[in-house]
Amino acid sequence: MDNLEQIKKAVEIEVKYKYININGKTRSFSSFICSELRKEIKKTKNPKWQVLLEHFEQYQMDTLPQRKKSLERLVSVIKSETGEKQVEKRSEVLSLKSDVMYLKGIGSKIAYILNKLGIYTVSDLLYYFPRKHVDYSTRTRIRDLIPDETTTVFGTITSVQAFTTKNNLGVVKVRIKDSTGSISLNFFSSKSSKFTLERMKAQFPKGSGIMVSGTVKLNSYDGMLTLDKPAYSIMDDEILNSSNLNLARIVPIYPLSENLNIKTLRKAIFNTIQLFKNDIETILPQNIIEKYQLLEKKEALEQIHFPNDNEALQKARFSLVFEELFLIQLRLALMREENNKNLSSIPLEIKKDGLVMRFIDGLPFELTGAQKKAVKEILNDLNSSNPMQRLLQGDVGSGKTVVACIMLLAAIENGYQAAIMAPTEILAQQHYNNLINWLTPLGLKVELLIGSIRKKQRTISETNLRNGQAHIAVGTHALIQDSVDFANLGAVVIDEQHRFGVKQRLALRKKSQNPQILTMTATPIPRTLAITMNGDLDLTIIDELPKGRKPIITEMVNSRRQIANLIRREVDAGRQAYIVYPLIEESETLSAKAATIEKEKWQNEIFPDYKIGLLHGKLKNDEKDEVMEKFKNKEYDILVSTTVVEVGVDVPNATVIVIENAERFGLSQLHQLRGRVGRSDLQSYCLLSSSTKSQETRARLNIMTETNDGFVIAEQDLQIRGPGEFLGTRQSGLPDMLIADIVNDSKILELARAEAIDFVKNNNINDFPLLKDAKGLNFNSDLFGAG
Ligand code: ADP
Ligand code: MG
Repeated sequence: MDNLEQIKKAVEIEVKYKYININGKTRSFSSFICSELRKEIKKTKNPKWQVLLEHFEQYQMDTLPQRKKSLERLVSVIKSETGEKQVEKRSEVLSLKSDVMYLKGIGSKIAYILNKLGIYTVSDLLYYFPRKHVDYSTRTRIRDLIPDETTTVFGTITSVQAFTTKNNLGVVKVRIKDSTGSISLNFFSSKSSKFTLERMKAQFPKGSGIMVSGTVKLNSYDGMLTLDKPAYSIMDDEILNSSNLNLARIVPIYPLSENLNIKTLRKAIFNTIQLFKNDIETILPQNIIEKYQLLEKKEALEQIHFPNDNEALQKARFSLVFEELFLIQLRLALMREENNKNLSSIPLEIKKDGLVMRFIDGLPFELTGAQKKAVKEILNDLNSSNPMQRLLQGDVGSGKTVVACIMLLAAIENGYQAAIMAPTEILAQQHYNNLINWLTPLGLKVELLIGSIRKKQRTISETNLRNGQAHIAVGTHALIQDSVDFANLGAVVIDEQHRFGVKQRLALRKKSQNPQILTMTATPIPRTLAITMNGDLDLTIIDELPKGRKPIITEMVNSRRQIANLIRREVDAGRQAYIVYPLIEESETLSAKAATIEKEKWQNEIFPDYKIGLLHGKLKNDEKDEVMEKFKNKEYDILVSTTVVEVGVDVPNATVIVIENAERFGLSQLHQLRGRVGRSDLQSYCLLSSSTKSQETRARLNIMTETNDGFVIAEQDLQIRGPGEFLGTRQSGLPDMLIADIVNDSKILELARAEAIDFVKNNNINDFPLLKDAKGLNFNSDLFGAG
């Protein structure tokens, strides 16, 4: 490579900035790498660079884990092609890090195909896990064969016939028998020339033993059992050879690409395991291995590919999944320990007749059990010298705001200021109104900081916060601007945290020495996902709605009349309704237009007698607030809106939400929208309007009609869309997983997490070099460094 130093530097910067495809002076990181790779391909014609080029052409569109992987590959190929190449070629010194190309039975041609599957090194090959296994290990007597079962039969060839069907298909029919009966095997060939058929026939010498594995079929016209296209092996040479990888055992099935023969792959993996078995070290601490009866690593790898039996396979999988999840959780636990080491906080105490207690006593309702539990956990955290870093998850309408308010009060009670940050002005305004209502009677001063506030008012607010006159700041990201300073900020609440980037969270944190931080989200991320992504945060879940809430009745509709009737009935009873339109092609402008047109239609054609408000993203902030305020004050009966109302808006008197083109929304988003109603003890309704004919889409929407439980919906959404889509791929922050399945391995995840936390508490990672070096723990440290 000509510009090696420049490339190394670019890679280091890209890694430092966490794979954002950073822009250089003239172009992005990936386009720089692509052009360097093209030069190299022209020069050397080495297929290695070709595969890399394909990866980096994709880079811009890739998820972060994929990007990270591409970078790792780039680095490893650069290393092997420019440095240690000469040494590595000699097979005596092959190591787990060697290029697969140098393995026996794999040349540059197969290596190229493997590279495309992401297999570059010997170790990659060992970690190329089977997609599934097929059990050919059970040997059956012919008499006991059952249609549709996959079995292995041993027999003797009694006759072989070849013929051609009407459609010119060549068929070879082999009849075999054992001591209990006989059965036919059918083999087919698209070439029906006499020559081909003779050659096929010759593979089945009459009288020789044969072992066959396949699925038993019942032939519909003669009622005979057959095996079509079974795997087979003539016995003389192979029957006693237990290392036959394709037959009479539990056989691994791999994700393949074209041109890659599964037998070749099996053999390569099998040989590699045998060759490197003794280089594979067990990474997990011995006490964990014993506690969970995990297999040693080399055994786990061997058994995941070529299990002795089903039990061994399950054990191998458990061991590998455990290790993978443990490593992820260990990294998170170490991060948290590191955080705590550098931070300490003064424990906050709650007095019997202090603000917190007076606030709780003065509430017009009693906290739900889940709210009480959350409050207890939060107050517990606050009362320690480790700053709180907790994520509060609660379904829409579960009452997170009250809990957040209690946390703010705990700080104030101890002489600190507190802040709450919301993602939108509407939400900030709403929190502000709540806090004013709740806290003014307690003699507290609350300031609102949002972009649309006038400069003069803003300066006053900032002054009050700086000199400690004000107790609480509520705002949008306007809160984190440099001009905002606190006298003594002690606690921070971040609402709908997934709407903020890490940077914004850190910026808010920097406004004080070591504030206690509570982040909140109404996006019910299944616990498994939450602790994998946010493992550095503690997790509290509010899984109970306030008493008296009636489940929202959800229905799929496609008639306007039906919608109009329900709205009319509710509005005439003094209630209000939302009608929501989806974002059109990611364009606020188009969506705003569409919503405007629809509003006019509703107004002119259907509800001339009602007052209808319009809310969309193109309105100025104070216009939005005005609309929301009017809706809240019942000056509008109906609010036609784009998805701006999605998060957090709280108008308890609204009892109907109509969601147009519901098929365009993900389930979790629909659930969020639905959460705009059902916020009091009134019966509420959600109408999903969709004209889609797709069975699949209707089935998906149907889930909404069946449950009101956000966590159930999130689980389903996760099942349907997979973690990447579910979280929005770009910023998913999910670690790459080779074998663990975040949806189905949640039990193992909990175990691994508990062990990782325990490990960090009781050990020093430096005493466990293997663990410390394990994949994923130290990727960022030194890419081009030794090893
Ligand atoms: P979310 O968790 O979606 O942010 P909110 O905090 O906005 O929910 O609460 C929804 C509504 O429920 C608010 O009107 C709030 O005052 C009310 N609420 C909160 N807790 C309770 C409770 N324990 N009993 C009755 N109503 C409650
Ligand atoms: Mg809320």
